[in-house]
Amino acid sequence: KYAIVNDHIINREEAKVDIEDRGYQFGDGVYEVIRVYNGKMFTVKEHMERFVRSAESIGIKIPYASENITKMLEDLIEKDNLKLGIVYMQITRGAAPRNHAFPAGDVVPVITAYTKEMPIPEANLQSGVKTILTEDIRWLRCDIKSLNLLGNILAKQKAAEQGCYEAIQHRGQDVTEGSSSNVYIVKNGTVITHESNNLILKGITKDVILKVCAENEIPVEERTFSLEELAQADEVFLSSTTSEVTPIVVIDEKKVGTGSPGPITKKLQALFKQEIENQCGI
Ligand code: PLP
Repeated sequence: KYAIVNDHIINREEAKVDIEDRGYQFGDGVYEVIRVYNGKMFTVKEHMERFVRSAESIGIKIPYASENITKMLEDLIEKDNLKLGIVYMQITRGAAPRNHAFPAGDVVPVITAYTKEMPIPEANLQSGVKTILTEDIRWLRCDIKSLNLLGNILAKQKAAEQGCYEAIQHRGQDVTEGSSSNVYIVKNGTVITHESNNLILKGITKDVILKVCAENEIPVEERTFSLEELAQADEVFLSSTTSEVTPIVVIDEKKVGTGSPGPITKKLQALFKQEIENQCGI
């Protein structure tokens, strides 16, 4: 197994973090998770663009061109002989004596990346998952894919403790997103999902879903929806890089609609698979 540290691919065991790395001390950095199907990265360009955007929004300048990072990730996938899984990649502001304010300009950001095998979650895709509701206690820049994930972690842990797959977060009456996914409802054939603003992460999977909806004349409303609308929905599903299009069949122990994955969700699953095949050829 290998890992990327800055512009080198090295043995995984040799990849080490400085104890004063700001990512380690402050969560001062951003990350990406990219799916690998058939040895090829899915929507890598979109992930790289978001990586740059996240980094820029906290004042980190990535010291390498996106094309060069992409090439290194491809090399890493090949060296690890990864066929089906993910690439995890992060950048921190670098190592410097601990002080909240940014360090002097000569401190170089640290990029790390590694691969992990991960199967397609077939059982969840087929049968759907159980979820809970929880108040969204996160900060107001959820559009940045920040390493600071305490709010997300606490939400996911609460779900896990109740035997659930995901926590659906809400700010008061408004549903925002999952702890590591975007959330959608379907009402009378229309797909409704939170607009991509500062309160949610603009999912790459979400963008693919919105694209296939547009191409297949499935009506979409990108707007805030309420807990009441969630409770009355015909179908509910979530999306993420690792979870693809996963039906939600239970929320706080109550069945969604009929209690099994609905027709629009299934259609979107099929259209999403098609996108994967088109890009990665499986
Ligand atoms: N929202 C949050 C909070 C996430 O952590 C993620 C991904 O992990 C998503 C949404 C979905 O984003 P993507 O589809 O780019 O994986």
